[in-house]
Amino acid sequence: MFKKFLAALMAVIFFTSAGTVHAAKSKWQPEVTIGLLSGVNEVTLQFTLPCIMKDIDTKKQIKKIPNSQAITIKASDIQTSGVEIRPEKDDLQHLHVLINGKDYFGGVKLLKRGSTMTVINIAPVEEYLRGVLPKEMIQSWPIEALKAQAVAARTFVLKNREKHKKDGYELCATTHCQVYSGVETFPTTDKAVSETRGEVLYHGGRTVDAPFHADSGGMTESAVNVWGGNVAHLQAIAEEDKHTQAWTVKFTVYDFSSRMGDAFGTLKSFNLSPLTIGKSSNDRSTSGRVKVLKIVGTKKTVQMKGDEARRKFSLPSTLFEVNIIGDEVVFSGYGKGHGVGLSQYGAKAYAEKGWTYDKILAHYYKGATLKKLY
Ligand SMILES: [Zn+2]
Repeated sequence: MFKKFLAALMAVIFFTSAGTVHAAKSKWQPEVTIGLLSGVNEVTLQFTLPCIMKDIDTKKQIKKIPNSQAITIKASDIQTSGVEIRPEKDDLQHLHVLINGKDYFGGVKLLKRGSTMTVINIAPVEEYLRGVLPKEMIQSWPIEALKAQAVAARTFVLKNREKHKKDGYELCATTHCQVYSGVETFPTTDKAVSETRGEVLYHGGRTVDAPFHADSGGMTESAVNVWGGNVAHLQAIAEEDKHTQAWTVKFTVYDFSSRMGDAFGTLKSFNLSPLTIGKSSNDRSTSGRVKVLKIVGTKKTVQMKGDEARRKFSLPSTLFEVNIIGDEVVFSGYGKGHGVGLSQYGAKAYAEKGWTYDKILAHYYKGATLKKLY
């Protein structure tokens, strides 16, 4: 009898302590909806927990979906504007779903679009970030650089929830928003997410835009020169070290001229001030990036914005010089990406010097502060 009582007591103690751990892990966090597939006729789903399918308009239960059993849902099966599938009992952060065989965090929403449907993943933000971080930064990089990136990525999510409103979800899974391919995680990037849980960049009482790019090339760019519109915490910031790779992109004069079109004729010369990082001129911003490039042809002269030149000639950045050498056009420059906000290679270099993630973020987003939202 006593033995039985002891066993029962032990069971209660065990259950209680396990319950406590469980409760600590399931602290509240926001959810995000990510559009994965559109225009599909059917999708195969398999959940790790027993789930409930509900109509998104009436919120009424349509059916139960047992776990570990793959089900195929056809667009023609959906009679209303859509359905949502969530765990029957447990919360969303303990659920995984295989969508056409690929592992994702959280549940699923299927929106009817004409005769087809859109497949949307409903994920807890912190789990979603575990999937995003290894796609945005190399997982073997220093932990403080990964943590700075985690904060920038989290800030992006919570700031841009209206980006795909017309499509019926919040973010897409490509570079347009942030690259996400579900559960492809690493211990280092997981650690960077959990150690910064809920932290975002804040300025003037709200979550800010926290853009990032690969490499500043020596100095970041002010947002006004890239997207037009001055942003207090996104100014040109000089780097302490010139930790950057120089690049060159070459064309033959013939190739270059044909890219400029028939009305341009043949390239004669360029008109551009010499590049000094950190020095502005009439055609360069303070960081040295090209604002406008004058291209002189035999038939006409073209004024091209730096950004336009970057796209047209597939240049890594707008921090460049251009010269005609023999029968070649040689673009030579520094940096990679738009140059606004955090530089990923810069963050790596500072982390290697011993900077913590908050110091790295304070360097790139001047005046913005870290705030723990949950
Ligand atoms: Zn997008």
